[in-house]
Amino acid sequence: MLRLGESVQEFLAREGMSRRDFLKFCSVMAGALALPHKEAFAIAKALESPKRLPVVWLELQDCAGCSEAFLRSSSPTAAELVLDVLSVDYHETIMAPSGFQAEKSKEDAIAAGGYVLVVEGSISTAGVGEYCCVAGKSSRYILEEAAKNAVAVIAVGNCATFGGVPAANPNPTGAVGVWNIIKDKPVVNIPGCPMNPANLTATVVHFLTYGSLPAMDQLNRPLFAFGRRIHDNCERRGHFDAGEFVMEWGDDGHRAGWCLYKMGCKGPTSYHNCPTIRFNDGVNWPIGAGHPCIGCSEPGFWDWEVYKPVTLNAITPPTTYPSVEKPVREISPASIAISGTAVGAIAGAAGAFAYSSLTQRSKHTKPVVEEIESEESAEH
Ligand code: SF4
Repeated sequence: MLRLGESVQEFLAREGMSRRDFLKFCSVMAGALALPHKEAFAIAKALESPKRLPVVWLELQDCAGCSEAFLRSSSPTAAELVLDVLSVDYHETIMAPSGFQAEKSKEDAIAAGGYVLVVEGSISTAGVGEYCCVAGKSSRYILEEAAKNAVAVIAVGNCATFGGVPAANPNPTGAVGVWNIIKDKPVVNIPGCPMNPANLTATVVHFLTYGSLPAMDQLNRPLFAFGRRIHDNCERRGHFDAGEFVMEWGDDGHRAGWCLYKMGCKGPTSYHNCPTIRFNDGVNWPIGAGHPCIGCSEPGFWDWEVYKPVTLNAITPPTTYPSVEKPVREISPASIAISGTAVGAIAGAAGAFAYSSLTQRSKHTKPVVEEIESEESAEH
């Protein structure tokens, strides 16, 4: 843990993490936020400050999946770094106190003000709030009370943003998202089921660095994470363009990694950076594992028919991969085999490129780190 008055840099040095690794993390954060790479320098300066940002983390109608996702992150010391830069004054799942002591911690944090409020879970509005109460207070009352003195409000997961699973038809608890209740201050929505911890980390880093929230879309989602459709960056996009679709679970196309559109994939209508950032430190993501996207970054996803293909009104071009030409079929069987192999090789190369750019961050960020280091030495 960070000691009183200790900077993140000092803490990391004590933990055996080099300055270079710290700068790499800052560089990756600048990339995640879609900022010019030189902004990594500003991020490093902000994170070096010994001042810790207080956080109050509420759990309302939820499964704690977003807390789990965040705490299990081990990517460039995200949990260590951000949790140690943050002072999580109240989080009922991970804090040591319970009962009256826990409530006292929350009251003290709210009275002190100047904290970021992170909300996980939807808010019950049916009846008088009896469907979700903590310490005898309704979820709505708890949210309004905690938002009062917050400097920023971040809703994480589809439940806190758009109502999520509790809001699914017939929505017996009247579940809604944070932004349906809090109207007097901006609310950042980081949906997902669960949210991707890298997106929360990047949002917090943006706030720490610039004192403001990142640019958002009309659903209050940060543009750096939700600015493009999944379909635009999907590693199976070449197969979509080539008309190669999985038609049945376990068929040859499924085994070959073809497009999941006909199995109900919501990638063409869902905005999220899943394909580029992935989960579990970039290891994989649902489509990579052979399951269609279920659209968990969009409002009302739980009521969609999971395996029914979406209507395609407009197809945007892929951003990451060149499209793969549909193989010409009117040729000899031997040529088809060769053509198929070539298409597979192109798609495979694209996938390998994406994977390597994720897993070899250190290699890709090296020049940036060197640039920051030389700027720093010029400063001193
Ligand atoms: S439909 Fe789904 S699986 Fe196919 S390319 Fe688009 S996002 Fe990927």
